[in-house]
Amino acid sequence: MNMQLSKDEESKYTRSLIEASLDPLFTISIEGKITDVNKGSIKVTGVAREKIIGSDFSDYFTDPEMACAGYKKVFEDGSVIDYPLTIKHSNGNLTHVLYNASIYKSEQGRVLGVFAAARDITAKKQLENQLEEFALLQDQKITNRTLELAQKVKELSEAKAKDEAILLSLGDALVVVDKVGKIEFVNKAFEELLGWTQEEVLGKYMVEIIPREDEAGLEVPFVERILSEVLVGKRITTSTVESKDPNAPIVILPPYYYIRKNKTRFPATGFINPILLGNKVIGAVETFRDITKEKELDKAKSDFISLAAHQLRTPLSAVSWYTEMLLSGDAGELNETQKKYFEQIYSGSNRMVEMVKSFLNVSLLDIGSTTIRIENTNIPDLFKNVIDEQQQNINEKQIDLTLEVAENIPMIYVDKKRIRMVLQNLVSNAIKYIHKKGKIRITVNASNEKYPGMMFFSVQDNGFGIPEQSKDKIFTKFFRAENVTERSTDGTGLGMYLAKNIIESSRGKIWFDSTEDVGSTFYVTLPL
Ligand code: ADP
Repeated sequence: MNMQLSKDEESKYTRSLIEASLDPLFTISIEGKITDVNKGSIKVTGVAREKIIGSDFSDYFTDPEMACAGYKKVFEDGSVIDYPLTIKHSNGNLTHVLYNASIYKSEQGRVLGVFAAARDITAKKQLENQLEEFALLQDQKITNRTLELAQKVKELSEAKAKDEAILLSLGDALVVVDKVGKIEFVNKAFEELLGWTQEEVLGKYMVEIIPREDEAGLEVPFVERILSEVLVGKRITTSTVESKDPNAPIVILPPYYYIRKNKTRFPATGFINPILLGNKVIGAVETFRDITKEKELDKAKSDFISLAAHQLRTPLSAVSWYTEMLLSGDAGELNETQKKYFEQIYSGSNRMVEMVKSFLNVSLLDIGSTTIRIENTNIPDLFKNVIDEQQQNINEKQIDLTLEVAENIPMIYVDKKRIRMVLQNLVSNAIKYIHKKGKIRITVNASNEKYPGMMFFSVQDNGFGIPEQSKDKIFTKFFRAENVTERSTDGTGLGMYLAKNIIESSRGKIWFDSTEDVGSTFYVTLPL
């Protein structure tokens, strides 16, 4: 600044500096009256210079008291910095400002007034407001999300409580194991049935804590326990129909025995289901039930059948013998009509003898009183023998039957009589459940790549087939599918039950594939 300016020049110079500022500037007298303003102040208040000068400074703010206190503070302290006020335009617009102000004095040091410069911070304020709104919005969002989560947690814990209540109140014993077979959960029925409490078994291996025995009382090794196999990801079904549903529970069929804490044992039946995450087994659920009562009932039934069959056998045989004698003319020549009637009686009583025989076989098997006689057996020969026996029926129905035997089929050690019963049932069923001029194909193989170490044979027919809804019952006692009961009354529904029992007790497997009205194939494997 040029220090040589005249007083007048100096004031002009100051004036131009003041006017050059876009910020509103005021000078205020000790009484609070505005003594001078620049264009910035006129613009921000919307009031003409003549009107502003001489008016109260505090008139131009939304909060006059605060404005008043502001300039008073300047007089007291000499200055203020960043004093926040809001200027009100005559049209109602608001401008947020920060005031920097200081007193100015006469040459003699007398305080003349206050020089106040306002800095427009509206934009900053807006930004702050926006930020604040944004923060509020975020807060709101977080609060809402937290509430939602809390609701979810509540729902989940309610669902969990419900699940637990269901599991606890389930009548069947239930145990959940992790991927290594350690117990994670057992229900009340489990505790009651086995005598172990949840606390005692948690974290222990199921296969260790609950030993399993076979019918004869031999302990089943851990690795052979179905649970162990399920946990290593094997897909086993002990059911004899190939299941199309990959999530179908794995069925454990009796007889198997579990040992209680007090070392007593009970027969059980149940399910094991793998718990899958994607296709990885992360655990398993086993449910089972004590079937002592069912077994007792079953035994009583078998005992009764056995008794009845024994009692029936002798008189029935007598009927057959005497009819045979009559037919062979031992008691004199018969006329054609008599012969026809006696033939009916003969075939009827023979059928009854066969039926009584299978009743007896089943009951003997159920009671477990058959003695097993293992001998060297030639399966192809046994098939030939069975086919010969059925030749008359085959001829009558004009069936095209082929027996395909692979080379070098070894002899196997099995109970020949009982295995013969199986072949007989398979072949006679194929003949029975086929149309005239149907085709039956029997194959015998040994140790192919699919069944190493096994004898493998199949009986295929293009007959009636088995309806879908009957498939899982074919091997149950007395079961006969609707499509055959409609057609032929002959049959007991015991043959397949027997076959399965015999094959499984010979450590083999039996199963089938069938489509109604297309045909059936029964498969059997037996260890070599
Ligand atoms: P059944 O004395 O009735 O033949 P089985 O126990 O031998 O009794 O067979 C049970 C049921 O299985 C039969 O009644 C029939 O419904 C069905 N079945 C068995 N083999 C065949 C087959 N080859 N074709 C069609 N259905 C069959």
